[in-house]
Amino acid sequence: MDTCTAIVGINWGDEGKGRIVDLLTEDFDVVVRYQGGGNAGHTIVNRYGEFTLHLLPSGVFRKNVVNILGNGVALDPEHLTQEINALREKGVSITPNNVMISERASLLMPWHRRLDALEEARLKDKKMDTTRKGIGPFYSDKYQKKTILAGELFYPEVLKQHLNELREWKNLILTGVYNDEAETEEEIDNWVKNYCEPLKPFIRNTSTFLADALWNHKRILFEGTLGALRDLDFGIYPYTTSSNVLASYAPIGSGMPFATVERVIGVVKAYSSCVGAGPFVCEIFGDEAEHLRKIGNEYGHRPHRVGPIDLVATRYGVKIQHATEIALTKLDVLSDMDEIPLCVRYKLYGREVDDMPFPSVLDRCEPVIETVKGWKCNISNVRNWWDLPVEAQEYVKKIENSIGCIIKWISVGPERHSIIRRG
Ligand code: GDP
Repeated sequence: MDTCTAIVGINWGDEGKGRIVDLLTEDFDVVVRYQGGGNAGHTIVNRYGEFTLHLLPSGVFRKNVVNILGNGVALDPEHLTQEINALREKGVSITPNNVMISERASLLMPWHRRLDALEEARLKDKKMDTTRKGIGPFYSDKYQKKTILAGELFYPEVLKQHLNELREWKNLILTGVYNDEAETEEEIDNWVKNYCEPLKPFIRNTSTFLADALWNHKRILFEGTLGALRDLDFGIYPYTTSSNVLASYAPIGSGMPFATVERVIGVVKAYSSCVGAGPFVCEIFGDEAEHLRKIGNEYGHRPHRVGPIDLVATRYGVKIQHATEIALTKLDVLSDMDEIPLCVRYKLYGREVDDMPFPSVLDRCEPVIETVKGWKCNISNVRNWWDLPVEAQEYVKKIENSIGCIIKWISVGPERHSIIRRG
């Protein structure tokens, strides 16, 4: 077993990473979140019930797994407190022994959420369709070096001064730019007391913990959120998230810049789905889209855009994640189709292209579609590759050949055991 492994999304997010992480966490000692915050959710179905985790790493359900929120995470104390309480109510143990927060993680403040919503409202029909969780304003402030680090909570007089400085600056923007209400010192003090103080037992120097873990050959899993096409630097900018989601960033955002990621498990969905605005070459509409959305349960807090698998985008995702193996999810969703379409290339300015075009011209691309025969039977109880209908095997192999990476797991349902291990 390799020491450092990452599980990451290859597409636009919502590939079903949560269930793959949940399945594989039994092989790991430490699970680390290295970027993102309340904007991304992992859905996990297990013996405790169904959970959507936004901030906590997915190893929280496993005994003896240490879960770490790294320095790269947008640490939203309010959101995290709610998540911890919800899990505890269902009987999941959350203690400073199994959950640790990096002292170098920055706090996502109430003004970040407010500014996110205010800017979306200002943009009206040109809005970015953000999740309004404050992620964009948070990372902008981090790059401006205007955030509070979690470790500051241990130094009240330093914290107070820093909070006041930042609050005064933010109030200039809230009132002057957006004509909205200022944040008062009392409101922020209460927020710190209610949501940050209770988190103090979890906050520590997680880098030294991880360095020891690495030294002792503990198995470390980096848990990515969203997907490659949402990476700030290499995704479909500006319709990306505001952080780096790629596996190569995992050691930095986790607090172990000295580590090497040896295995990268990329999660690919058997068809395409995308949430929010931005180019989505394979998008289908009307009844056909509604049908796929329904069977795939592609809703969330807004209906997902859907389409056939996009092999151009998936190939690109595999490349920039540097995936060493693939988990293909939701194959069961395609089971009632007579023919299954795949987008094999794009057509751009009259020419067919195999490689991902520059983001600014993506909305000028058209998909080139090929179809394969469907299998037309329920595969959700299949657990063995050789028991899959030959048409389903052909579909998987066509994807594998096109993306140039081995598909090792095929998921045929949301539950932990609904998986086919290959090879
Ligand atoms: P993530 O953001 O990549 O972790 O993806 P989500 O947590 O949003 O997962 C997407 C949804 O797909 C969740 O409701 C999962 O329970 C569900 N799901 C995951 N894998 C499968 C699968 O193989 N088949 C079916 N039918 N649903 C799945």
